[in-house]
Amino acid sequence: DDGEDGFMPFPSPSMSASQSERRWGDTSSYTPRKILKSWFKLPNGNWDLVKILSTAGTESVVSLTDGKVLKVKAEDLIPANPDILDGVDDLMQLSYLNEPSVLYDLEYRYNQDIIYTKAGPVLVAINPFKKVDLYGNDYIEAYKRKTIESPHVYAITDTAIREMIRDEVNQSIIISGESGAGKTETAKIAMQYLAALGGGSGIEYEILKTNPILEAFGNAKTLRNDNSSRFGKLIEIHFSETGKISGANIQTFLLEKSRVVQCTEGERSYHIFYQLCSGAPPALKERLNLRRAEEYKYLSQSSCISISRVNDAEEFRVVMEALDVVHISKEDQHSVFAMLAAVLWLGNVSFSVIDNENHVEAVEDEGLQTVAKLIGCEIEELKLALSTRKMRIGNDSIVQKLTLSQAIDTRDALAKSIYACLFEWLVEQINKSLAVGKRRTGRSISILDIYGFESFDRNSFEQFCINYANERLQQHFNRHLFKLEQEEYIQDGIDWAKVDFDDNQDCLSLFEKKPLGLLSLLDEESTFPNGTDVTFANKLKQHLAPNPSFRGEREKAFTVCHYAGEVTYDTTGFLEKNRDLLHLDSIQLLSSCSCHLPQIFASNMLTQSGKSIGGPLHKSGGAESQKLSVARKFKGQLFQLMHRLENTTPHFIRCIKPNNVQSPRLSEQGLVLQQLRCCGVLEVVRISRAGFPTRMSHQKFARRYGFLLQESIASQDPLSVSVAILHQFNILPEMYQVGYTKLFFRTGQIGMLEDTRNRT
Ligand code: ATP
Ligand code: MG
Repeated sequence: DDGEDGFMPFPSPSMSASQSERRWGDTSSYTPRKILKSWFKLPNGNWDLVKILSTAGTESVVSLTDGKVLKVKAEDLIPANPDILDGVDDLMQLSYLNEPSVLYDLEYRYNQDIIYTKAGPVLVAINPFKKVDLYGNDYIEAYKRKTIESPHVYAITDTAIREMIRDEVNQSIIISGESGAGKTETAKIAMQYLAALGGGSGIEYEILKTNPILEAFGNAKTLRNDNSSRFGKLIEIHFSETGKISGANIQTFLLEKSRVVQCTEGERSYHIFYQLCSGAPPALKERLNLRRAEEYKYLSQSSCISISRVNDAEEFRVVMEALDVVHISKEDQHSVFAMLAAVLWLGNVSFSVIDNENHVEAVEDEGLQTVAKLIGCEIEELKLALSTRKMRIGNDSIVQKLTLSQAIDTRDALAKSIYACLFEWLVEQINKSLAVGKRRTGRSISILDIYGFESFDRNSFEQFCINYANERLQQHFNRHLFKLEQEEYIQDGIDWAKVDFDDNQDCLSLFEKKPLGLLSLLDEESTFPNGTDVTFANKLKQHLAPNPSFRGEREKAFTVCHYAGEVTYDTTGFLEKNRDLLHLDSIQLLSSCSCHLPQIFASNMLTQSGKSIGGPLHKSGGAESQKLSVARKFKGQLFQLMHRLENTTPHFIRCIKPNNVQSPRLSEQGLVLQQLRCCGVLEVVRISRAGFPTRMSHQKFARRYGFLLQESIASQDPLSVSVAILHQFNILPEMYQVGYTKLFFRTGQIGMLEDTRNRT
């Protein structure tokens, strides 16, 4: 009796995902005899590693870690792994795959500052919230030479480079996780490795310097993360035939521009504003008429000006230097800073009531004067653009005065547009600078750092878009790891019992179906002059109620059942954010400015809005730029992204946030578990372990390893050569399968052959 009878070592592949889900928590087939250790859930929800003292019938007597002895139902015990498996570096190696065992393994490693663990093909990274000694040249060298095998971002990046070269296929590194989980840091670590291995031309230095720039302009302190990315980013790094970096291209997604004019108590606007205020050299300060951050309404409203352990002035120097590196001219840099100052001063523009109908006029004070000077327009023009609106009624054009709230909206819309245009323009300039690779091989490695799934107490349009994007990425993940896997087995005649997985197609259809899907209905309602958040919410309830992923809520809310959980959205502000209109008056103002950046911004806005400029008017409003709705543009970008990713071999990194207080050493089981469930880590392990994740065509295998054969064989056909190689190297029959066109291997098998090949 080895003490393991009755245990299911791991769920068999023929079991459906939901069955096995139950199985992990269900130990009905498990009689805890002679087992020393087991998991027991304490009333506080945490798992405790208990010793089983005795078992009688359906009850066991156990001793808890704290020494207490307790009689528990045997069915409440979940098998724990033997000590020898403590801290294994791939969850696939666990004999008992259940949630507490996975948590235990991750925690065991985390407590020794080993923050990386493999979950089959996926790399799990737990945020250490402190400096860990895992990076730098010595480590890079060790991973390059393969003298270290421990899971690491370097290791997965190394695999990507090798596969790019070996298979001649583009690669992608897809990083996901909640806000504050460590995606951006992980992306930088991967870039560091790529730069070290593929560097030489100097372009890698430029690529690394894009990080401080994009973080200054696109990151902000939030309640969850002091350096939270408020945009999504895909950086595609190009390689030459010799495996050297030849250039790069950055694509950004959906910058949160509302933050420029408004942010929650305790949060900040974009870092660059504070950096500029505290770090600008005196001459620049004078030219921009700059004050301390506290004196700008946009920055002071959230009562948070500084971040502990961050020196904004020092950061500003880093950004200025980086701007030089990516070849932004001094003149352009000054224009950039002028636009930033203009945004800040716009926030200080105030209005006074001028008639008894509550119409207002911008006050001609320092704020207004400075904005006019910075963007290069007449004070009078700016004043008009902020306090009036040209309207067309029939063929006549009239000028309407604005009320206070209309004027404030107009002012804020202008500030947001200038900032968003500035961000886009910067990315464009950076891309021009990085596009230097002359002889393109077309090979690339892309790194995706995109906002993770978000579910707050109050969820708005931003969460709606972000979660939609995550739903798409999750499908990519599922398809890649589960579905394609099986299809390939079946196609190649491999004996493989079908494994179910939770497909999220229903939820995606809820978003994308035409004409009755969330996005279509949102766009439709956004084009109706009389559409409001209430009519939008009602329309959703009317048309989408039968959809199992949708539920109407009271008043203006609705709930979507995402793969990662239910989220209730409040439609307040949805239509306005989706329309994202800037009045034509404001665009005209920018286009008439004497500075070149406002002109570029205006012409970009006009191109985006197409020919309908000055065309159809809103019944209630003035001439507005009719452009692509935000949701539609985002969906377009997302489809383009997915298309690009589909043509790459993906490598997944799942970042995990161990606690909500950004503190080292603290790991909250519930929080970690919820994230592991969200990204399907256990599923992946289960399926990978049961399957044959490595595969290679007979031809390729024979070509790659054929020369290692010690005895020549009669037949030269790839299948015979392949089989001979397998025999020579004593690869066990249960470790591979021979398909019609390919060989399939369990994890780790090819590694041994590669090592031999590399030594030869
Ligand atoms: P968001 O979605 O809000 O942008 P994120 O997932 O990109 O969040 P990061 O900004 O990468 O999160 O990480 C948050 C913080 O966690 C970092 O500023 C850093 O302090 C810490 N951190 C993350 N990864 C590491 C690491 N590998 N080593 C040390 N600290 C880390
Ligand atoms: Mg980030």
